Amino acid sequence: MSQPHPRLEIRNLRRSFDGRAVVDDVSLKIMPGQVTCLLGPSGCGKSTTLRMIAGVEMQDSGEIRVDGNLICDTVFRVPPERREIGLMFQDFALFPHLSVADNVSFGLKSGTRAGKRERVEELLERVDLLRFIDGYPHQLSGGEQQRVALARALAPRPRIMLMDEPFSGLDNRLRDGIRDETLTILKEQDTAVLLVTHEPEEAMRMADEIALMRDGKIVQQGAPYNVYTRPVDRAAVAFFSDAN
Ligand code: ADP
Ligand code: MG
Repeated sequence: MSQPHPRLEIRNLRRSFDGRAVVDDVSLKIMPGQVTCLLGPSGCGKSTTLRMIAGVEMQDSGEIRVDGNLICDTVFRVPPERREIGLMFQDFALFPHLSVADNVSFGLKSGTRAGKRERVEELLERVDLLRFIDGYPHQLSGGEQQRVALARALAPRPRIMLMDEPFSGLDNRLRDGIRDETLTILKEQDTAVLLVTHEPEEAMRMADEIALMRDGKIVQQGAPYNVYTRPVDRAAVAFFSDAN
């Protein structure tokens, strides 16, 4: 029997700015239900990689496939809004003029009114914000707004979720709970997840696989335990110990 296609596959992705390779031949495969963390120091090219997969940044070369189907290479390109990829970026923004409920249901294209309301209630319950369902973003703290943005991103059950440091604005008291709940929801939905972080601790906690990135390249890839206990070189050792 042939191997199932990865949910998300990127091959030899490259992008330069001003003649400098910021993403330099990056390849990754992520299966449904798998969480891969792109881990590395600030400036190593993590967000640029994610933005190319999302379709908001164009690669110079390389290709992106979803369930085996080409969605982007240098000549063919499915526009971002048709990629059905969930996004949760650091600088999320809620729609200020929409209620919390309407923000969360924004991405729900199909279903009855009652069905959508039920989904919104379920998600707000899980991020512990049900009491704000009829409130507006300006009534919420930054951390609460971020949790609403998470619920909004999860609502349509995307096949792929790209997350760029999504937990960094949350206070410690809430962060672990929200991380765990987010993971549970994504696993239930069999979503393939690419999570960007510069914190080894977050990657160790959340990833099935870590892709360690430096200067635009993936320098090591594997199960968190293996990457942590058998770092590829001195710089990897330094990265893991400095960050702690
Ligand atoms: P990370 O997310 O790992 O911190 P980024 O992907 O945001 O890294 O950025 C990688 C490098 O590319 C940085 O040096 C950044 O300044 C540069 N860069 C990102 N976007 C642009 C752009 N639009 N124009 C020029 N340089 C950019
Ligand atoms: Mg970044």
